Amino acid sequence: MATPTPRTLLIGALLGLGSGLLARVALGGDHAMVDGFVRHVAEPGGRLFLRLLLAVVVPLVFCSVTLGIVGLGALRRVGKLGAVTFGLTLVVSAVSVGIGLAAANIVRPGEGLPDQVRADLIARYSADAGKVAVSAPREATPAAILVDLLPRNPLGAATSDPPDLLGLLLVAALLGAALLSLNESTRRPVTDLLEGIVAATTVVVGWAMALAPVGVGLLLFALASRFGFDLLLVLARFAATVIGALGIHFAVVYSALLMAVGRSPVRFWIDAKEALLVAFATSSSNATLPTALRVATERLAIPAPVASFVLTVGATANQNGTALFEGVAVLFLAQVFGVNLTMDQQVSVMAMALAAGVGTAGVPSASLPFVALVLGVVGVPAEALALLLGVDRILDMCRTTINVAGDLAIAAIVTRFDGGQTLNLTAD
Ligand code: ASP
Repeated sequence: MATPTPRTLLIGALLGLGSGLLARVALGGDHAMVDGFVRHVAEPGGRLFLRLLLAVVVPLVFCSVTLGIVGLGALRRVGKLGAVTFGLTLVVSAVSVGIGLAAANIVRPGEGLPDQVRADLIARYSADAGKVAVSAPREATPAAILVDLLPRNPLGAATSDPPDLLGLLLVAALLGAALLSLNESTRRPVTDLLEGIVAATTVVVGWAMALAPVGVGLLLFALASRFGFDLLLVLARFAATVIGALGIHFAVVYSALLMAVGRSPVRFWIDAKEALLVAFATSSSNATLPTALRVATERLAIPAPVASFVLTVGATANQNGTALFEGVAVLFLAQVFGVNLTMDQQVSVMAMALAAGVGTAGVPSASLPFVALVLGVVGVPAEALALLLGVDRILDMCRTTINVAGDLAIAAIVTRFDGGQTLNLTAD
């Protein structure tokens, strides 16, 4: 199924937004006709699109994270360099989520809404907010918290409402680690099955995305006709917060890393620009991989074995921009819905965003199912995701650029460590 181009998505979003605002200004948000259209057409249509995403999220996330861990097994075979790659990925991703959370806490983009608009929003989207409980551990001693993280029953963790996401991720990591210890012939059928599930659920996400121009248009019509310009301003602040935080991560953290290995950041990014542009245009790390590989070897003097190893693993496992976006998105929606996240909860959002960075596929909008899942965990109705959809495409373009830039920067550092001497494999 053809994925919509950014142009069709933009047209859908603008049409929905423009006609919603027009309806509100001309007739009033609670005019019978506008209200009828919103309740019987726009909202159900938009929700169907969201449901398609939500319906596949648990198997998709579980299987992707398990396969992500199995994929990291390739790191083991390259010993020290694998450890450097993985260690750097984790540290740089943690820094990126930290920057995102700090920005969301400082700017507080979700807080500018007038009380009435907020109350309306909560009333509309929180139909089942009552069901949503914050999954805090029952006892608060550090040992009890650790014990509570691992679910007693993985199936229960998957089917509880909201799903016990962190628990589920731990079980996925456990399964991935266990699979790695099996021999290839025993492991193969299981990973084949998991890959099949990921492929099938990705097809469903593709269907949802094919509906996206209409779905986003309908959702934005509903939002704009009901909540008007106030909501748009808040969304613009959210988008600016994400882009600003991504910019800081790119300019400060990546530059520092490159300078640490003796490379000029300005030169490096000028030479890498083709890969960055492809990432920006496609919103897909996977689709950018061939260009990134060529740019790395031909322009950035990264030896081919290092490039193919680090960039291939990085296309799915190293997604700094995605992790940052997910953290800000969850905090933003919590602010919009008046859910105050404690420090502990923010730390668990950070852990989930980090895992998401490893588990999210490198395809357009791959973060959205994950954000929906984390929302449920922190007590915000998953339908709130609708608010983000109108601005997601542009943010996806930006975060994918940062994802690919991060892969290239890490490849440059690994090169410095090794010079390509000991790495003579192609990652699988
Ligand atoms: N589009 C991103 C990528 O391919 C993933 C995401 O954040 O949705 O890297």
